[in-house]
Amino acid sequence: MLEKNVVVVGAGVAGLMTALLLSKKQGYKIVVAAKHMPGDYDIEYASPWAGANYVPVSINGTKAAKWDAESWEPLADFAKNHPRQVCTFRDREITSTEN
Ligand SMILES: Cc1cc2nc3c(=O)[nH]c(=O)nc-3n(C[C@H](O)[C@H](O)[C@H](O)COP(=O)(O)OP(=O)(O)OC[C@H]3O[C@@H](n4cnc5c(N)ncnc54)[C@H](O)[C@@H]3O)c2cc1C
Repeated sequence: MLEKNVVVVGAGVAGLMTALLLSKKQGYKIVVAAKHMPGDYDIEYASPWAGANYVPVSINGTKAAKWDAESWEPLADFAKNHPRQVCTFRDREITSTEN
C-alpha cells in the first residue's frame, strides 16, 4: 500500500498528539517539523511550561468533543501503563462559581 506523506508542523502537545494518533493508523509516513522540539525551553513554546491539567470542556456532539475523546485514550494509557511518563491521574475536586 502506498503511504501518504504527512508533515505535522509543531512539536507541542497539539502536534505530538496528532502525530501519535496518526502513527497508530496504517498508511502514513509522518514527519514532525518544528522550530522547537521536546527538551527545548523557549517563551514561544508553551507545552513544556504547561501544568498539564486535562479538563475537557467541549460540548457533547461537537467535533471538539470527538477530539477530546480521541486524546483522552492515549493520555490515560500513558498515565496507567507508563508511570515514568509525565501523565498521571490525580484526584481533584472542581468548584464552580456558577449558580
Ligand atoms: C505556565 C503554563 C501553564 C499551563 N497549564 C496548562 C494546563 O494545566 N492545562 C492545559 O490544558 N493547558 C495549559 N497551558 C496551555 C498549554 O500549555 C497550551 O495551550 C499548549 O501547550 C499549546 O500547545 P501547542 O502544541 O498548540 O503549542 P506549543 O506547545 O507552543 O507548540 C508550538 C510548536 O510549533 C512550533 N512552531 C511555531 N511556529 C513555528 C514555525 N513558524 N515554524 C516551525 N515551527 C513552529 C514550535 O516550535 C512548537 O514546536 C499552560 C500554559 C502555560 C504557559
